[in-house]
Amino acid sequence: MTNDNFVFDAIIIGSGIGGLVTATQLAAKGAKVLVLERYLIPGGSAGYFERQGYRFDVGASMIFGLGQNGTTNLLTRALDTVNVHLETIVDPVQIHYHLPDNLDIKVDRVYDKFLQNLTAYFPQEVKGIRHFYNECWQVFNCLNSMDLLSLEEPRYLMRVFFQHPLACLGLVKYLPKNVGDVARRYIKDPLLLKFIDMECYCWSVVPANMTPMINAGMVFSDRHYGGVNYPKGGVGIIAQKLVEGLEKAGGQIQYQARVKKILIEKGRAVGVELASGQIYQGKRIVSNATRWDTFGKLIPIEEIPNNEKKWQQRYEKSPSFLSLHMGVKSSVLPNNSECHHILLEDWAKMTATAGTIFVSIPTLLDPGLAPEGHHIIHAFTPDWIEDWQGLSTSEYEAKKEAAAWRITVRLEKIFPGLDAGLDYLEVGTPRTHRRFLGRQDGTYGPIPRRKLWGLLGMPFNRTAIRGLYCVGDSTFPGQGLNAVAFSGFACAHRIAVDLRIG
Ligand SMILES: Cc1cc2nc3c(=O)[nH]c(=O)nc-3n(C[C@H](O)[C@H](O)[C@H](O)COP(=O)(O)OP(=O)(O)OC[C@H]3O[C@@H](n4cnc5c(N)ncnc54)[C@H](O)[C@@H]3O)c2cc1C
Repeated sequence: MTNDNFVFDAIIIGSGIGGLVTATQLAAKGAKVLVLERYLIPGGSAGYFERQGYRFDVGASMIFGLGQNGTTNLLTRALDTVNVHLETIVDPVQIHYHLPDNLDIKVDRVYDKFLQNLTAYFPQEVKGIRHFYNECWQVFNCLNSMDLLSLEEPRYLMRVFFQHPLACLGLVKYLPKNVGDVARRYIKDPLLLKFIDMECYCWSVVPANMTPMINAGMVFSDRHYGGVNYPKGGVGIIAQKLVEGLEKAGGQIQYQARVKKILIEKGRAVGVELASGQIYQGKRIVSNATRWDTFGKLIPIEEIPNNEKKWQQRYEKSPSFLSLHMGVKSSVLPNNSECHHILLEDWAKMTATAGTIFVSIPTLLDPGLAPEGHHIIHAFTPDWIEDWQGLSTSEYEAKKEAAAWRITVRLEKIFPGLDAGLDYLEVGTPRTHRRFLGRQDGTYGPIPRRKLWGLLGMPFNRTAIRGLYCVGDSTFPGQGLNAVAFSGFACAHRIAVDLRIG
């Protein structure tokens, strides 16, 4: 319950995983926390929806950070902090790639098996492959040896430096580096370099020369360490459990509570105003909305700080996606299908609109998400909002149908009989992503406009406006559930120090 004069310690705008990790970490430290979510359920891009007996993940379904060991298992740690837990299912293969030049490669959970699969195609690069991926392990081992908290907090930095000097120096070395430069030191084969491009693109949505080495170190190693694990009951369970933990720890969440404006007094963020007109006051305000929504909508354009304008010159919005959420008969899937697939027929189209197709079949891990005898296939491919604007309803529907058909035809290559076995189809466009995820243009997140110095250009949680913080994929270290959980830990840590509660 709230009254008009109550001042929260922290108000969090949005219940994406970044927002919820911030909220739960702060609530566990005793802070009075309020989360305001514009939609009906928590999770944002890690949410779900249900239709005709199917439970579809709206976005993410390849989940890192749910492992048991080390320090990089941030989703497990976030849940543990507020005494909630979920059951997970091991995914034995991160991705099955179906690429041009007949590259058909599985990224096995077992590191050596993956290396064997890859070197079978590139025997002449056996040493280069091992050297490159081993260097990624060096980054991971540094990260995985220390508590991952706010890099904006000098006392923490000093503590970890004295505890783990070599790991810290290792990270400082890799912070400005991109994957392409490291890969080219070891690998000469142009086709193998294209494969490394795809290894990066499929989660960073940019090729290797623009993908920071810190992120690659996490992804390329953790898939063989903590592994990819699917939460039983669907990805939406992660957010639901975090909310359960938040409430147990005394925090509050309100749904259908769209924040219209961040209130600023004398240069300091002091509260928020909802679309309903309701006002809440907070000592600290955290935005889990994208940077473009935060600085441009919640903060009016004329008040955007200069450093944010500069950031927007370095980073741009990545495309959104065209998503096909399909319910299919089980007979569509060949025996021994894997959960995640990447399909590309022409290297030149890797980053193009509708070039690369991403596929998830979560029911191979958790059959309970679909009616008996059926599976879910979520297929998505990059697409831009501009291509979907200004259409009449009938034009929009016809365009959706035509785009879905083109994807289905391409998918028939790996799932013969897909069209005939289709039981349910829901098509989401960049407009759908914008509408339901509240993300400007439906963007997946920020990408560098040009080659930058690794991760050095990504902002941390504090902003130029006193009392206002950002969390989520527009902050260090970027997109992905485990990455935004990192951002949430860091944000809560910085705020707790500022509030003198941590
Ligand atoms: C199709 C797709 C597939 C993906 N696949 C994977 C994957 O396999 N693995 C992986 O790790 N990651 C994946 N990702 C990326 C991952 O889902 C995101 O990086 C991550 O979930 C972003 O979390 P976030 O906390 O930054 O914010 P979001 O998930 O964007 O959540 C922000 C929340 O804030 C709310 N909000 C926004 N504005 C307001 C406002 N004004 N008032 C109140 N509430 C507001 C929104 O409704 C939303 O709930 C995928 C993303 C997509 C779209």
